[in-house]
Amino acid sequence: MKPSILKFGGASVASPRSFHTIAQLIIEKMNLNPQVVVVVSAMGDTTNRLLDLARSVHPNPPKREQDMLVSVGERISISLLAMALAALGAEALSFTGSQSGIITTDAHSDAKIVDVRPKRVLSAFSQGKIAIVAGFQGVSRNGEITTLGRGGSDTTAVALGAALGSDTVEFYKDVGAIYDRDPKADPMARPMANLSYQEAAVLAEAGARVLHKRSISLAEKNGIRLEVYPIRGARIPGSIVGKDAVRCPEMIYEQE
Ligand code: ASP
Ligand code: MG
Repeated sequence: MKPSILKFGGASVASPRSFHTIAQLIIEKMNLNPQVVVVVSAMGDTTNRLLDLARSVHPNPPKREQDMLVSVGERISISLLAMALAALGAEALSFTGSQSGIITTDAHSDAKIVDVRPKRVLSAFSQGKIAIVAGFQGVSRNGEITTLGRGGSDTTAVALGAALGSDTVEFYKDVGAIYDRDPKADPMARPMANLSYQEAAVLAEAGARVLHKRSISLAEKNGIRLEVYPIRGARIPGSIVGKDAVRCPEMIYEQE
């Protein structure tokens, strides 16, 4: 069985309590498949607050230092999630993007993934532990901490799924599905059960910002199915992107 890749966005880890909620869900998943990778975003509006903090010190912060700062948001989430799992008796190890082998270009604040070397993730599996990975961040070949652009944790999850041979990535979102319009802005928005990559990409652009656009194209290149689930309640996906995708045998990165 290939590893299960689960992605939790900022809204699903907005409060300390929410880590217990998702820890329970992760344990249920682990009972079905012992190899679980969890990718998490920063808590709630943490990334915005860190960016404001940077700008309160410098009107146009040096991008390298800004990445150093904002990458902290995801580190808070991964460590707290590992603690929440430990509180429920489950063993997990948290890893930064760099420790997870997310290798990127050196374009600070908009880096592209050029390689994935998930050695530490695999060693967590061999110890029977859940691997928790900080989304949104990586390391350049020069060893600099980079970030992937706003919303980039979705792309981290797809890249890991591709590198680990998984054919599906599961996204747990507060909205629970992809809608034909932004459900937070338009009460008439309707959920869509099945979408092609192209449809999902158009919607990602048009403002129904459920999945990061780059995660959709990376999934399409690698033939990975994307499933969007609500955080609570139903255990069936609200939306599936690329239902009949054929998994590409060799990983294709965002950029060579
Ligand atoms: N925390 C980052 C952001 O808010 C990355 C993400 O949420 O995917 O943009
Ligand atoms: Mg975020």
